[in-house]
Amino acid sequence: MTTGLVFSDRYLQHNSNPFRLPSGKILPFVEQVDHPSNPRLVERTKKLLDYTGLTRQLVRVEPYLATVEDLAVFHPVDYVDFIRGISEAGGGDAGQGAPVGADSYEIALLAAGGVMAAVDAVMAGNVHQCFALVRPPGHHAEPRKGRGFCIFGNVAVAAHYARRRYGIERVMIVDWDVHHGNGTQAAFYDDPHVLFVSLQQDRLFPVDSGSANEIGSGAGEGFTANIPLPAGSGGAAYRAAFERVIVPLAEQFKPEFVFVSAGQDASASDPLGRMLLAAEHYRQFTAIMQGIADRTANGRLVLAQEGGYSETYAPYCTLAIFEELTGLHTGIEEPVDPTRVGRWPASLSVSGDQEQAINRTIDALRPYWTF
Ligand SMILES: [Zn+2]
Repeated sequence: MTTGLVFSDRYLQHNSNPFRLPSGKILPFVEQVDHPSNPRLVERTKKLLDYTGLTRQLVRVEPYLATVEDLAVFHPVDYVDFIRGISEAGGGDAGQGAPVGADSYEIALLAAGGVMAAVDAVMAGNVHQCFALVRPPGHHAEPRKGRGFCIFGNVAVAAHYARRRYGIERVMIVDWDVHHGNGTQAAFYDDPHVLFVSLQQDRLFPVDSGSANEIGSGAGEGFTANIPLPAGSGGAAYRAAFERVIVPLAEQFKPEFVFVSAGQDASASDPLGRMLLAAEHYRQFTAIMQGIADRTANGRLVLAQEGGYSETYAPYCTLAIFEELTGLHTGIEEPVDPTRVGRWPASLSVSGDQEQAINRTIDALRPYWTF
């Protein structure tokens, strides 16, 4: 199995700093605090891949700039112009909490084009599967509004691209970022060709988004699935969600191409989530997604980096994903002992409220699918 890696040093130049208070002011201390979506997280992930030697086992895939026409399937041209204008003016906000720096317009185009390049590499057969280690992330970006650190909807744009350029009929997108993939959901809400499934911490961000009864509309009714798990959910609840919802949906939908919006911010160490996952769990989810891709999509799987804000731990979660993709185990010691993780109650059992949350999703989708 060959695995591709999309990466560019340009991604590290998207400058989201400094951290600002809701009023827009910076913190009133002598020392600045970095914005949570600063370049260091992706940089540290790349360095960990380099350090462990894994990078050498990956096929490097060069990202390219998405064009305005590529974006136009989701973002109106006036929004794209708006982002270019902010960038040219030296920086600002793309909407709600989506920092744009002086170079961010071009880098955001390179992030969307990076996921498109991953699609190209998989479709050309250069790689079986590909991870796009891009930034800024994309899953919160709405057609006319940047949100939650996201400027352009990278996965939404790339999924449209896979359909248009390669004639893919059925695309499945699984978004396991701890926050709701509201932007990607909006892109395909009435589209029966794209099955979008989002797992998230219930009512975290955006707060009123991603409830179990958001199932799509019109021709797309039943082709959006939301699994909002209660705060404190861990490996056992996530595994149940995969086994009881995601795998049955995939078996019936039979995707020809599979995307993962891979935000590793549901880890127990993450400052922007309150879930209890560990690297080991991301390894398990990756194996499940590979299985889904193998069964009907000829193994075609593209993962795109979304969130993940624990500087010490998120890179290890992403490393675990790469280890599972490649089948290579680096043996590097992790900051959180995996044998301890295996004994966490949240790794071992599904609580009543977690069970109910999964059941609500199944009930909402039962008119359309068999569980
Ligand atoms: Zn997130």
